[in-house]
Amino acid sequence: MKINIKILFGIIPLILAGIIFYSTASSYKYTVVLDPGHGGLSLNPVSLHGDKYDPVGKKYLSPYQQGADYKNLYESEIAYEIAVGVKNLLDLSRSREGRLQLHKILLKYDKNAEAPKEAINVIMSRDDGYPMKDFERLDGKTDRDYNAPYRLFDFPDFTTSKRSLGLISRINAHEPDLVVSLHLDSVGPTNGAMAPVVTPGYETYKQAIDYINGTDSEKRKIKSEFKKSPYLNWIQMDSSRSAFEWFLCDAWIYFTGYWSYKDGLNPDPFLFRGIRQDYISWKYQGKSWDFRADETKPTPIHLKSFIPSGEFWKRELSEPEKWRRENGTEGVGGDNLYSANELLRFIRLGLLANQAMPEQKLPDIREPHWSTWSLPTYINAISAYIELGFLNNKYDRERIEKFKEIHAEAIAVGIYSLFYGLHISDLKAKDLPTGKALDLNKYKTYNDSDYFKSVMH
Ligand SMILES: [Zn+2]
Repeated sequence: MKINIKILFGIIPLILAGIIFYSTASSYKYTVVLDPGHGGLSLNPVSLHGDKYDPVGKKYLSPYQQGADYKNLYESEIAYEIAVGVKNLLDLSRSREGRLQLHKILLKYDKNAEAPKEAINVIMSRDDGYPMKDFERLDGKTDRDYNAPYRLFDFPDFTTSKRSLGLISRINAHEPDLVVSLHLDSVGPTNGAMAPVVTPGYETYKQAIDYINGTDSEKRKIKSEFKKSPYLNWIQMDSSRSAFEWFLCDAWIYFTGYWSYKDGLNPDPFLFRGIRQDYISWKYQGKSWDFRADETKPTPIHLKSFIPSGEFWKRELSEPEKWRRENGTEGVGGDNLYSANELLRFIRLGLLANQAMPEQKLPDIREPHWSTWSLPTYINAISAYIELGFLNNKYDRERIEKFKEIHAEAIAVGIYSLFYGLHISDLKAKDLPTGKALDLNKYKTYNDSDYFKSVMH
């Protein structure tokens, strides 16, 4: 056998690079992905620029969401700037000198904080995106795929049609412990506020199956219990349905990919919203990308006879998904809601500790925004998804514009606290952080492997 020297010499540097990469990547105890929302453009036609690509019907099921805006303020840009601020602060953990600086910041929040001892691996989910203020409408210009770096789900490459990884697949490939998604909403309460964005687990959605199969009196009972539960504020996409009816509809989407009619008893075969777990690359994926190319869309399954089978539903029924999404220290919402609320509480503390605002002016933390959101469901790590404020609200706009750096600092300290824990200083106010570290060890030792690792095929 003749060995090609050129190829051999080509391979050696690759192997060395691999060893160096591997040893640095594995030397971090914790990895956090900072995920500023959006970044792309809501362009027409959706057939070219949309998101949530369905490989069976061979089309995008949703327009790309470019995020909220108000006058010259854009959610995607503010979220990115704050994420960069968070990254710069957490990256201080990478050097001895930096750790001294980071320690000084921690002392503002915990007067007995110990100096950080190790580097945190901090990854941004995207680059800065398009400059929205100079952006001219690009509708109809199809020369390139503007949203390729930003869409959530996998999609076919513009020229080769090969499957390209969307944001959720790429985030999971980093095998993070925590993903912090930063967003701003458009319309909110008059005083301004912040809110966690969460999704419950299988057990909660299963109420919808019990409802459909229940007798009239069982139906009434499930409905009245829902109204007394923490899910009573379930996100209503519009006022045509009650919160409970939207919950039923979202449960249908979660289980079958189809909307239901208003009464929640049957699927609407014209409103297909996607078998989303198949639209990302991971080991829990089903077969729709590869094996159903001859069909136009999957046949609706009736929830009455839903049976969880396959890798994805095994995941949904697993202990780590319960820990992420059900019960936990907040009573509901698991570690996802705890992390999101904790970061919001750190923002309140940061504004107080830096004497930016008196307690009565601090933004309230709203009840969770419950829905069948894609990120908290399909991210294979703790998902802290937060709305930092509402752009239509003067108080929120002023707070975020004026104190952007304090928000970044508080989120960075909050992330540090979720990994290592802090003892919060003696500032007294409502809704301040508990400073309790996440119990990540239970995920990392689940079934003798690390639940956050080896998520790709
Ligand atoms: Zn958003």
